[in-house]
Amino acid sequence: MSDVRTGIGVDVHPIEAGRDCWLAGLLWPGVDGCAGHSDGDVAAHAACDALLSAAGMGDLGAVFGTDDPRWAGASSVSLLHEVVQRVTGAGWTIGNVAVQVIANSPRLGERRVEAQKALSDAVGASVSVAATTTDGLGLTGRGEGRAAVATALLTR
Ligand code: MG
Repeated sequence: MSDVRTGIGVDVHPIEAGRDCWLAGLLWPGVDGCAGHSDGDVAAHAACDALLSAAGMGDLGAVFGTDDPRWAGASSVSLLHEVVQRVTGAGWTIGNVAVQVIANSPRLGERRVEAQKALSDAVGASVSVAATTTDGLGLTGRGEGRAAVATALLTR
């Protein structure tokens, strides 16, 4: 009987005026990005944590360190690829990853297919991307930050 595991990941970053916006593996011109030690891509970070969660391998902070200089300004897609290497290296097969972004901007729906391809290519399995807002409530509704939640399914 195969071993099937689900995992969950959540990430939140503050928006920083003038910073490049990387979200769901894509650069969004003309949109303020998120502050963070890496490029601040909350969707990619939530996906990383969902994969690590499913594998029982901890979380991004434990694996990479939140202040390790090697990852300063790092592409979150490269972090995601590194997580995939570790998870598959531990014997897991990735079934799928699902990500939901919670933010006022950018308008993710316009590039959803492109975002799914960018993240799916990094993971080597299907990554679905969706988005929602909080109707003006809370830190995402006030435009102070962006959040993402992700789930992952692993088998072996
Ligand atoms: Mg993060």
